[in-house]
Amino acid sequence: MPENSFADIILPLAVRGRFTYRIPGDIADSVRPGVRVSVPFGSNKICSGIVCNTHNNKPAVRNLKSIISVLDAVPAINEYQLKLWLWISDYYLCCEGEVMKAALPSEASLDNYKPRLETYIKLSQKFTDDELNKTLDTLAKAPRQQEILSTYLRLTGYSSGSEIMPIAKSLLLSEADCSPNILEPLTAKGILSSVSMPVTRLNESDSYREPVKKLSEAQAAAYESITSAFKFKNIVLLHGVTSSGKTEIYIHLIEEQLKIGKQVLYMLPEIALTTQIILRLKKHFGSVTGIYHSRFSDPEKVEIWKRVADTDPLTGYRLILGVRSSLFLPFSNLGLIIVDEEHDNSYKQQDPAPRYHARDSAIMLAGLHKAKTILGSASPSVESYNNAVNGKYGLTELSERYGNIKLPEIIIANTREAYRKKLMVSHFTPELLNAMDVALGKEEQIILFQNRRGFSPYIECSECGWIPVCVQCAVNLTYHKGIGSLVCHYCGYTAGMPSKCGNCHSTGMVTRGFGTEKIEDDIKIVFPAARVARMDQDTTRNKNSFSKIIKAFEERRIDILIGTQMISKGLDFENLTVVGILNADNLLNYPDFRAHERSFQLMEQVSGRAGRRQKLGKVVIQTSDPANRIIRLILRHDYKRMFSLQAEERMTFNYPPFCRMVKISIKHKDRSLLNYYSEILGKDMKAIFGKRVLGPESPVISQVQLWYIKTILIKIEREKSPVKAKQLIIGAIERLEKEKGASSLKIAVDVDPY
Ligand code: ADP
Ligand code: ZN
Ligand code: ZN
Repeated sequence: MPENSFADIILPLAVRGRFTYRIPGDIADSVRPGVRVSVPFGSNKICSGIVCNTHNNKPAVRNLKSIISVLDAVPAINEYQLKLWLWISDYYLCCEGEVMKAALPSEASLDNYKPRLETYIKLSQKFTDDELNKTLDTLAKAPRQQEILSTYLRLTGYSSGSEIMPIAKSLLLSEADCSPNILEPLTAKGILSSVSMPVTRLNESDSYREPVKKLSEAQAAAYESITSAFKFKNIVLLHGVTSSGKTEIYIHLIEEQLKIGKQVLYMLPEIALTTQIILRLKKHFGSVTGIYHSRFSDPEKVEIWKRVADTDPLTGYRLILGVRSSLFLPFSNLGLIIVDEEHDNSYKQQDPAPRYHARDSAIMLAGLHKAKTILGSASPSVESYNNAVNGKYGLTELSERYGNIKLPEIIIANTREAYRKKLMVSHFTPELLNAMDVALGKEEQIILFQNRRGFSPYIECSECGWIPVCVQCAVNLTYHKGIGSLVCHYCGYTAGMPSKCGNCHSTGMVTRGFGTEKIEDDIKIVFPAARVARMDQDTTRNKNSFSKIIKAFEERRIDILIGTQMISKGLDFENLTVVGILNADNLLNYPDFRAHERSFQLMEQVSGRAGRRQKLGKVVIQTSDPANRIIRLILRHDYKRMFSLQAEERMTFNYPPFCRMVKISIKHKDRSLLNYYSEILGKDMKAIFGKRVLGPESPVISQVQLWYIKTILIKIEREKSPVKAKQLIIGAIERLEKEKGASSLKIAVDVDPY
C-alpha cells in the first residue's frame, strides 16, 4: 500500500476546519494520529499541532506546506482522546483547536517535563549484621554519625540478607535530627552512599489500605440493582437521598473495577469537594488514586497526565478523582465513570469554548471505552431522571439515610412577617436565631448559605435612587467591605466607595441586600462568642484554602461557616446540625426555565449537610413566600413530585429535555452595529428554522467588558436530526462572518446552554 502523503493537523487556534500539510517522505513512518508535529503557519510562524489523520486526497490549494518535524516518539494523545476531542468539537459546535487548548496541558510543559530528582541514601553494600555492629562500634566516638546509621537501619529494617532500600535523605536527616554535614563522613568512609531518584511532585502522603465498608441491607440491594442493570444498560442513575451512602456504593463499584485491571474516573462538580472524598478513596485504594483539577500548576498537571498514561499497575494511576477537565486525561482502559452530583451546573463549561457538559461528555467517553457510567444525585436533573423513567438509563433509588438517621427537619421562616412584626435581627428570623442558639449551646456546628458573595449586592442613594454601575458592564457594582471597594462580578472592575451620590451629590449612600461578607459581619455581632468563618470565591483564591477551611470545620475550630453554593455540595461533617438558607427568594426568582429545578436541588443539597450522624438535623429556610410550590415540596423532600411538575411544564412550553436548544450570542462594542448584524443573523435563521428561532434579544446582562450582547435561541425538536440542524446553524454564522465589517463581531455558539 502506498504511504499516505498528507496529514490533517489540529492546531490550537479558534479557527474552524483542519489544516492539511504534506508529509515529507523521510518522516512518513512517524506521522501517526495523536503525535505532535511542528508546522509552518501563516507567513513566518511555526506552530505545533496534533496529527488527526493521514490520507492521499491532495487538497486543492497552491503552495501546500510540509510538516517540519515530528515532536513525539509515542503519540501525545491516544485514540480515545482524539475521538473525544472530535466528538466535542462536533457536538458543541466549536473548533477542534479550542478543544485542544482546553484538553492538553501547556505545550511548553509537555516538552520540558523532567522528573524532579531527590537524593536518597542507602547502604553502600550488603553488609552482614556482624560488619554493621562493628561499624556502629567504631562510630562510638562520633555519636551523631552513629545516630544516622542506626536511624537508617531502623527505618529500613535492614539485616543481613535483605535487599538494600534507599530512603530519602531529607527524611533520614529529619528522623535522626542531624544536619547534612554529619552525613558526609559516612559516605566518605564508604558506609552509606547517595543516589538520585525521581520523585513525584505531588504531595503524596503514605497511604494505608483499609478494607471497604460493609454495605447495609438497603445499600447492598442498591448495589445489586446497579450491577444487574449494567448487564443491559450502559448508564445507571443512582437516585439516593443525601447521606444514604452513595459514596460507599461507588467505592464498592470502584474496587470491583480495579480488581479486573480497569481504570475508574470519579467526577465531582467542585474542587472543594475533592478534598474530603480523596481521603476516603486513598484510605481504601492507596497510591493508585490521583486527583485532578484546574488549581494544579502546569508541571503538576503534566505529572498527573503521565501517571494516568502509565499502564504499570504499580506506578500508574488507576483511579482519578477530578472535576470536569479530568475527562481529557489519557485514559487507555476505563471500566467505569462515576458522575457524582450529576445535576450540578458546574459540569457545564460556560466560557470560553469548548462549552461542553462534562456529564454528557463523560457518557460519550465511557462509550468509547465500552465502559459503564453511573450518575449519582439526591435530586437528579430533570434530563437524567427523564431518561431513567423512559428506560434509557437504569434507575436505582435509595430512600433512606445510612444508619437510620432521619432526614433533617425543615422549618420555613417567613421573613415578610418577621419584618412586619419587627422580629428580624439583622437578616435573621427568630426561627433561625433560635435554632442556632440551641446548637451553639450544645457545641454543635452551623452552616449558613447565601448565594451572593460580597457585602451588599449594590449601594444606592437614599435621596434619588442612584446606583453605581460598572463602567464596562450593564450591572450594579457589589460592595466589598473588607477591601473597601465596589467590585464588578462580571469583569473584576473595582472602584472606591463614593462619599457622595454621583447624581444629586447627597451623602446618603446606603447598602442594599446582603452577601456572605455582610452575614459574616452581622453574625459576629449577634453571636460574639462564636468562631465564624466564610467560604466563597473571595476567601478561597489560594490553592489550599478550601482544604484549610474544611479541615478547620472538621476539627471543630469553626462554629458557624457562611458560604455560597461552594458549601452546599457533598460535604460530610459529623457535628453539623443546623443549616440556614438565608434568602430562598433570590434562588426561586431567577429568570431561567431551570430556576425551580435548581432551587429545589440546591436547597435539598444544602439541607443534606445537616444531621448526617446521630443528631437530628434542622434546616431553616428564610423566605418571603412560604406558600411557594417548590418550598412546599422541599418541606416533604418530594423529588418525584418536583420532577413530574417540571416535566409537565417543560413539555407544555417546549423546553429541554423535550427539545434541544442552541444559543448564539453575538457581541459588538458598538450598540447599533450589534443591532444591525444580529438582525441579519436573526432573519437568516428564521428563514431556515422559522418559529423555532427566538430573538435576537438583549440578555439580562446586556453588556460585559464594553461588549454589547444579543442572543438568539433556537429550539430544535428531539426527532429532528441534530447534525443537519447544526450544519445549518454553522452555515448561517459563516454567511454573517462574510458580511462587510463582521470581523469586529464576537460570535459564540452554546449547545445545550445552562
Ligand atoms: P452520600 O454519598 O449518599 O451523601 P455517604 O456515602 O457520604 O452518603 O454516607 C454518609 C455517611 O455514612 C458517611 O460518613 C459514610 O462513611 C457513612 N456510611 C455510609 N454507608 C456506610 C456503611 N455501609 N458502613 C459504614 N458507614 C457508612
Ligand atoms: Zn442621589
Ligand atoms: Zn464589569
